[in-house]
Amino acid sequence: MSDSIQRKKVGFVSLGCPKALVDSERILTQLRLEGYDIVPTYENADVVVVNTCGFIDSAKQESLDAIGEAVRENGKVIVTGCMGKNAEQILSVHPQVLSVTGPHAYEEVVGAVHQFIPQTSTHNPFTDLVPPQGIKLTPRHYAYLKISEGCNHRCSFCIIPSLRGDLVSRPVGEVLDEAQGLVDAGVRELLVISQDTSAYGVDLKYRTGFWQGRPVKGNMQGLCEALADLGIWVRLHYVYPYPHVDHVIPLMSEGSILPYLDIPFQHASQRILKLMKRPAATENTLARIKSWRQDCPDLTLRSTFIVGFPGETEDDFKELLDFLEEAQLDRVGCFQYSAVDGASANALPDHVPEEVKQERWERFMDVQQRISAERLKAKIGEEMDVIVDEIEEDRAIARSKADAPDIDGLVYLSKPEGLEVGDLVTVTIEDADDYDLYA
Ligand code: SF4
Repeated sequence: MSDSIQRKKVGFVSLGCPKALVDSERILTQLRLEGYDIVPTYENADVVVVNTCGFIDSAKQESLDAIGEAVRENGKVIVTGCMGKNAEQILSVHPQVLSVTGPHAYEEVVGAVHQFIPQTSTHNPFTDLVPPQGIKLTPRHYAYLKISEGCNHRCSFCIIPSLRGDLVSRPVGEVLDEAQGLVDAGVRELLVISQDTSAYGVDLKYRTGFWQGRPVKGNMQGLCEALADLGIWVRLHYVYPYPHVDHVIPLMSEGSILPYLDIPFQHASQRILKLMKRPAATENTLARIKSWRQDCPDLTLRSTFIVGFPGETEDDFKELLDFLEEAQLDRVGCFQYSAVDGASANALPDHVPEEVKQERWERFMDVQQRISAERLKAKIGEEMDVIVDEIEEDRAIARSKADAPDIDGLVYLSKPEGLEVGDLVTVTIEDADDYDLYA
């Protein structure tokens, strides 16, 4: 019997944020290295792994639904990821589940796969080729680069530290080796992710590492300087407005890394930021944004906000709207506060009624949509570099330096002839709507 006939098959469902996606990639790479086949359908799988998200109630429900579907369609299901911290809840709804583990429990998940579908074939490392960069769930031309796990903050609306623990940074040489491997495999854009990119290295006391025979400082600046040498697009996510972030702005203005910062501000009222226990809550954020823009006029700022946090008064909310007008952020997401099981904000007084949350959310979106649309309109006539994500029959879908995949806008190119996915091209912007550009 041939090796391929005996190989066991694993189905995989990956839910949640980019950090969970990186966990999925790591588990899949390990399984593939061990000779398991990864299959895209329930019916062909010997077991199905579901990587869950447990951040807010709707994500938990989505995870439970996905587990339910896998149980119905296949029957042999292993659960991992953030919601796996809450094994009793999962098993009370789906008692048939074979094993439950929490986030970044790679060995345990792989161990569960060994237990329930042991390999009978001998894995042949010469024929079972896994690409050196591992298995990636993103398209070939961009990839997420996770630089740390966990978080040292204790924001009152968030349970991530209780799910993923305190910050653990990956050694800088290891991160850079992975980045180099991805570039060698054809990746042209790296999206740096973590829970707090600005805190990178703090747990290692910013220990200097070595990469390709040279010392690299183990902090955000050192990492960014080394990533800049790779000659590809490098985009920073989940940064907080600490003073030391000023040091990476020159790298952006000289074009070494993308002039893009994803900073989840969440609010502008000092009172609410303190109730939220946000990192850098006491910084003068507007002054910082102003000085960044002076040094790097092309800087794109993306952020997220929460309206209707417990205790938020009309005055706090107006302060937030004033902040939006002043800060002129490019891309913004807004969520109405919703309680997360286990978060300390649940115990705060003065919860905001649902209809007030809805009304504030609508006012917020009105203001920000106008600002974002105006900022996009100002780009009409500009020449800019874009990266091609998709080619359709009569157009190509691309992104500019100002657009991260999945969360920001797109640039639609009208003449796709000769273009390939992953190409970097210079285009002229001809039109803009509320979210996207046309070139
Ligand atoms: S910074 Fe705050 S919101 Fe972000 S993961 Fe840490 S505790 Fe949660």
